[in-house]
Amino acid sequence: MSRVYNFSAGPAVLPEEVLKEAAADMMDYKGCGMSVMEMSHRSKMFDDIIKEAEADIRSLMNIPDNYKVLFLQGGASQQFSAVPMNLMKNKKAGYIVTGQWAKKAAQEAKRYGEVVELASSADKTFSYIPDCSDLAITDDLDYVYICENNTIYGTHYHELPNTKGVDLVSDVSSCFLSEPIDVSKYAVVYGGVQKNVGPAGLVIAIIREDLITDDVLEGTPTMLKWKTQADNDSLYNTPNCWAIYICGLVFKWLLKNGGLEAMKKRNEEKAAVLYDFLDQSKLFKGTVEPASRSLMNVPFVTGDADLDAKFVAEAKAAGFENLKGHRTVGGMRASIYNAMPKEGVEKLVAFMAEFEKKNS
Ligand SMILES: *Cc1c(COP(=O)(O)O)cnc(C)c1O
Repeated sequence: MSRVYNFSAGPAVLPEEVLKEAAADMMDYKGCGMSVMEMSHRSKMFDDIIKEAEADIRSLMNIPDNYKVLFLQGGASQQFSAVPMNLMKNKKAGYIVTGQWAKKAAQEAKRYGEVVELASSADKTFSYIPDCSDLAITDDLDYVYICENNTIYGTHYHELPNTKGVDLVSDVSSCFLSEPIDVSKYAVVYGGVQKNVGPAGLVIAIIREDLITDDVLEGTPTMLKWKTQADNDSLYNTPNCWAIYICGLVFKWLLKNGGLEAMKKRNEEKAAVLYDFLDQSKLFKGTVEPASRSLMNVPFVTGDADLDAKFVAEAKAAGFENLKGHRTVGGMRASIYNAMPKEGVEKLVAFMAEFEKKNS
């Protein structure tokens, strides 16, 4: 068996310990004679799995009691519709557009009401997070929406927008559990888990209880109404049992490794290895304004598309996978999520230094 260093933006690298544990459980989970994939979602065995997963993420993120944790399907993209359907009472919401995912969410919301673009970083190819300290926020907005870590462009909010009392909704897909956050500052925090937490097809939504009501937009499908899911403890229909189980193992791995404070420290050290290299390199250049850099997704370029392609191909041959940048931006992107060991980043940087020597 040989494993590569996988820099994919998602689905992405998972902790080896977790994969081994899942492999060991595969034929016979805890003596029940079947795998988690084969058991009823109504069984005691699965009930324990989902309850424990919820308790562990609550403890990891320090989630206040007045927030529900929902395990939903349809990925993060499905919440682009669920958010307006559940929250647009006034049919007006503010969106801060810092990349493709925020743009897609705003476009979807436009189907249900008025979308006010409060700020955007489109003028510089989404290479920074705009100043959000004094936006034109009016109190008729149902919510203010952000994408907290921009997976494609490699930017991250280092300070939350001043929403002037309006509820904040945040897509944290690509920074989920990468560092502590104060959940009480948000109305809704949600993320697809396939970036930093688990397998694709599961989204975890953390929602303040008073926002979970029957008062949703007319025509909201039963499945997209948060109250349906909350009333049924995420078991209205068959959930993604396997993904919930793997996330549970990842939560335990995070708890065992010191929780989110420790993860943040590790992630900062790891990202610094790559950013420090980029800052002194004469060949490679980071594309993001330093103050807006993400700890999770690091885009960079040589400035020459052919050389970029050569680098990606040679890196792949050397065991560094999925370094090609998003199809809409080109260049390279290294996603260095929780499960990427520091050693992986150090080896990548050594490889980049070698490539620079040979190609300049
Ligand atoms: C990947 C990603 C999405 C889309 O996730 P799906 O689960 O594929 O719908 C949304 N937002 C962000 C920030 C992402 O990185």
